[in-house]
Amino acid sequence: MDQEKQRRLRALPAVHEVISRLEYEAEFGPFLTNGRQLTRLTRVVRQVLQKARENVNRKYSDSFAEFESSLWTWLKSQLLQELNRPETSLRRVINATGVVLHTNCGRALLAPEVARYVAEQAERYSNLELNIETGERGSRYVHVEALLCRLTGAEGAMVVNNNAAAVLLMMNTFAQGKDVIVSRGELVEVGGSFRIPEVLKAGGANLVEVGTTNKTWLRDYEAAIRPETALFLKVHTSNYRVEGFTHSVSGAELVELGEKRGLPVMEDLGSGSFFDGTSLGFPIEPTIEQTVKAGLSLVTFSGDKLLGGPQAGIIVGKRVFIERLRANQLTRALRVDKLTLAALEGTLRLYENGGLEDIPVWRMLSLPLETLKSAASELVAALKLNQAIVVELKEDVSRVGGGAWPTVDLPTWVCAIRPKQGSVIELEKFLRLGAVAILTRIHKEWVVIDVRTLLSGDVEEIVRRLREWAR
Ligand SMILES: *Cc1c(COP(=O)(O)O)cnc(C)c1O
Repeated sequence: MDQEKQRRLRALPAVHEVISRLEYEAEFGPFLTNGRQLTRLTRVVRQVLQKARENVNRKYSDSFAEFESSLWTWLKSQLLQELNRPETSLRRVINATGVVLHTNCGRALLAPEVARYVAEQAERYSNLELNIETGERGSRYVHVEALLCRLTGAEGAMVVNNNAAAVLLMMNTFAQGKDVIVSRGELVEVGGSFRIPEVLKAGGANLVEVGTTNKTWLRDYEAAIRPETALFLKVHTSNYRVEGFTHSVSGAELVELGEKRGLPVMEDLGSGSFFDGTSLGFPIEPTIEQTVKAGLSLVTFSGDKLLGGPQAGIIVGKRVFIERLRANQLTRALRVDKLTLAALEGTLRLYENGGLEDIPVWRMLSLPLETLKSAASELVAALKLNQAIVVELKEDVSRVGGGAWPTVDLPTWVCAIRPKQGSVIELEKFLRLGAVAILTRIHKEWVVIDVRTLLSGDVEEIVRRLREWAR
C-alpha cells in the first residue's frame, strides 16, 4: 500500500509542469495574461496539488491506471473551480437554512436603501463629528441618539461595538470593585464567548448570585444587599427557557426595591425588539419601550438581532447614567465607526418612517405561509426538471436565530431534495462548495431548502448549481 502511495505521489506533476501545460489550454488563457495573474495561478496550482497529495494519502479504490488517466482532467477542473471563485475572503452565501438571524452568515441584513446610505457615507466626507452650525467639533452619537430616544421613550442613548461591549462598559462604569446582584436563573452564556459571569469580571465587578436556577424571589435580591452593592442586573435568558416550577422577579419589581434602597437596576435585553411580535404569533415579551417604561436605569441590546441593523451595542436609559458612560475612558476604545452609525441611523429611520416590511429581518419573520408555499412550490417545479434528484414540497419550521425566541417554531414550506445517486451528505457539501456557497440543512434523508431566507437571484443560482450535480 505504501509503495502504491509513493507511486501515485511521484505521478503528480510539479508546479511548473502544470503551468507550462496550461499555456496550451484555451480556458486558462484569461488567467495567464499578466504577472499578477501568474502569481495567483501559481498559488492556486500549489493548493490543488496539495489537495491531490492529501487525496492520495486517504483511501482510494481506483487502480493506478485509472488514477493516472483521470489526473489531468481532475487537476484542470479543480483549478478552474478555484480560479473562478471570487478572490475576496468575504463572499456571498445563500442562506437556505431558514434561520433568519444566522450568526455565522452575518446576522441581520440591512435594507437596500440603508446599504446605499452606508456606501455613500463610506465614499465621502461627512459631519460625523462636526457641528455644521457652529463649525466646531460635535459628537458622533447625535446621529442616532434622538432617534433612539424617540423610539424607546428613553432620556438618553449611547452606542458601542456590540452588546457584549455595552454590558462590559456598564459594569466598568457603575460597578468596578463593587457588587452586582444577578439571579442564578439568568447567568447566561451566548454563543460560547459571552458569559455573564466573565463579562462582569472583565468589567471589574463582583458577581453576587442570588436565588436558584429555577426560582428567584425579591427577598433573595434584598437579602444580598450590602454597602458594596452597586446595582441589580437583569439578563434576558435569550437562548433557553426555564419552564415548569419557576419564579423570577420582573424589572419593575426590582426598580421598586432599588428605589427604596438607592440602587439602580440595569438590564441586558439581548436581542430586544421595538416591535411586539405577538400579532405574528410570537410569545409575549416586553418591547424595549416597555422595559424602559418600567423605570430601569439602563437597558442594553444588540443592533444586529431583532432590531435588524448593523452589529452594535445600544444602551438607552436615564440621562445621568448615559452621561457617566460617555465619560468613561473605555467608551473611546469601544466606539463605533461611521459605517455602523450610518447603518444604524438608516435602520432606525425605517422604524420611524416606514413599515415592518421595510426591515428585511421583520419582512422574513412575517412572511405569510401562502407566500412561502408558493415560493417553495415554484422551486420544486423548477427542480422537478432535474433528473438526478428527487424533489418534494414539505412543511417544516424556520427559526428566528441570534438567540431570540429560541423555542419558537415558525411554520414554513421547504423544497426537500435527495440525490438519486450519492448521499445527502455529499449533496449538502456539493451545494456549499459551489462558486456561490449554498447553505442548506439536512433533515432525515433530505437536504432541505427553506425559502424564507432566500433573496432575489438565489433560486436561479440553486437551480443552476443543481444542474451541475446532474452532469
Ligand atoms: C446576543 C446577546 C448578547 C451579545 O450580544 P452581541 O451584540 O452579540 O455582543 C449579550 N447578552 C444577551 C442576553 C444576548 O442575547
